[in-house]
Amino acid sequence: MTAHEWQAMALSRSLLEQFTAVVGTANVLTEKTDKLSYSYDATAMMGSTPGAVILASDAEQISRVVKLANETKTPLITRGAGTGLSGGSVPLNKGVVLSTLGLNRILEIDEENLTALVEPGLITAQLHQAVESRGLFYPPDPGSMKVCTLGGNVAENAGGLRGLKYGVTRDYVMGLEVVLPNGEIMWTGGKCPKDVGGYDLRQILVGSEGTLGIFTKILVKLVPKPQAKKTLLAVFPSMESAAATVASIIAARIIPATMEFLDQITIACVEEFAGIGLPLDAGAVLLMESDGHPAAAAEEAEVMLRLAKEQGATEVQIAADEAEAVRLASARRMAFPALARKRPTTVLEDVSVPRSKLVEMVTRVRRIAERENLLIGTFGHAGDGNLHPTILMDERDADEVTRMHRGFQAIVEAALDLGGALTGEHGVGLLKRDFLEKYFPSAAVDMMRKFRQSMDPNGILNPGKIFQPSPRREGELPRSNEHSLHILERLKP
Ligand SMILES: Cc1cc2nc3c(=O)[nH]c(=O)nc-3n(C[C@H](O)[C@H](O)[C@H](O)COP(=O)(O)OP(=O)(O)OC[C@H]3O[C@@H](n4cnc5c(N)ncnc54)[C@H](O)[C@@H]3O)c2cc1C
Repeated sequence: MTAHEWQAMALSRSLLEQFTAVVGTANVLTEKTDKLSYSYDATAMMGSTPGAVILASDAEQISRVVKLANETKTPLITRGAGTGLSGGSVPLNKGVVLSTLGLNRILEIDEENLTALVEPGLITAQLHQAVESRGLFYPPDPGSMKVCTLGGNVAENAGGLRGLKYGVTRDYVMGLEVVLPNGEIMWTGGKCPKDVGGYDLRQILVGSEGTLGIFTKILVKLVPKPQAKKTLLAVFPSMESAAATVASIIAARIIPATMEFLDQITIACVEEFAGIGLPLDAGAVLLMESDGHPAAAAEEAEVMLRLAKEQGATEVQIAADEAEAVRLASARRMAFPALARKRPTTVLEDVSVPRSKLVEMVTRVRRIAERENLLIGTFGHAGDGNLHPTILMDERDADEVTRMHRGFQAIVEAALDLGGALTGEHGVGLLKRDFLEKYFPSAAVDMMRKFRQSMDPNGILNPGKIFQPSPRREGELPRSNEHSLHILERLKP
């Protein structure tokens, strides 16, 4: 179905009645005021009111809803907490939002096999608390962990502050129960760490951004909780000296659990917001954490402290206890909200570059900001080269919007030029679908499209995400000039 046909489609009364028969009257929302809350996620300048919202509470209901949607070719947009930063759960073309927040239980913590079986609407930090109280650890910790869901994390393959040492969500998903686009309920994976039978469907489902199936149960791997943790906050005169510290720590064969940076603009915003004592003239701040056996964590922290000083750190604080560790880490965890309050609109980037290119990338972002006269604060994961240049602007200012588009595009191109990746952890969604079509090899995009088409022939699950709605015809140029954000402005409710 084309976008135009979707637009023309109105949800029929009979279909709404059938949805109501599955989940109950109270769980089908059709009032405009109710639907508005489901019209956007955390991505700037995106919004589109859904045709209806369905609040599901189990896999059986979801299966029946998906069967109805498939029979009637109705677009379905799965939604967790709506904290996504690429427009993944924004409902295009009056599609129906399916909220999984009602499926929020921890079904099992298996201490012998070191696994947890959870429902997709569970808040990530609640899983952390539950397993840590038993001396176990679920490492992925996105900045949004107090509000985002496990289902959203799996769909976006979310990363976090501990990614350098522990990896990302994909590294912890052992099994999935998924409702397929035809409504069938399928299980893939299991508790065996060694399992190589057939294609690994679980791996392709992780990061599928709601386009291949709806997760209804998630089996995750747990590890023993590190016995000790040491948290350091180092202040540097320049980004170069912070990056040299990162390089020397890795060269010393230390892989810290966390190695996060803030640039000068971000430091100023965090300080203004939270007043935690960061010097306003600092060029960069590094938050570093080492964990493991108490002796090993302490020794690594000492080495990191020495290396930071050798590279010119003007100040290094080591947290004396957990309360102080939380205070130091808050400098990084507050980066996004602190920047976001500076101007009315916050456009967050998510490119990755090889770690060795971090300084070059930050320098290029600075140059782009100067050229386009934009305020851009950059923070991110120094250890794995995933940066969040954050454009602070006002979407009501047409000229600034034009400069933001140019800046956004230039940042993506700079990262790709340095051998980087289009998105490190936020996903393609709507925000970067034009870039994917433009910069990925067409054979790879075609293969992905074919896979999606074979899984979901009617294209009902989250249509318009990751790829442009209709496939490129042979010989046709990608519509690269039509930047996603322009499209999205027109989608505002
Ligand atoms: C302040 C802030 C900090 C953030 N920090 C990080 C960070 O450090 N690392 C990081 O990776 N991200 C981060 N994010 C982005 C976001 O929180 C993550 O992408 C998160 O995984 C989204 O989860 P959610 O429950 O909000 O999903 P939603 O936004 O509701 O949905 C995201 C996508 O997942 C799909 N989806 C949701 N549930 C399911 C399901 N059960 N089955 C199939 N598909 C589903 C949706 O269709 C959509 O495409 C941050 C966001 C904010 C606002």
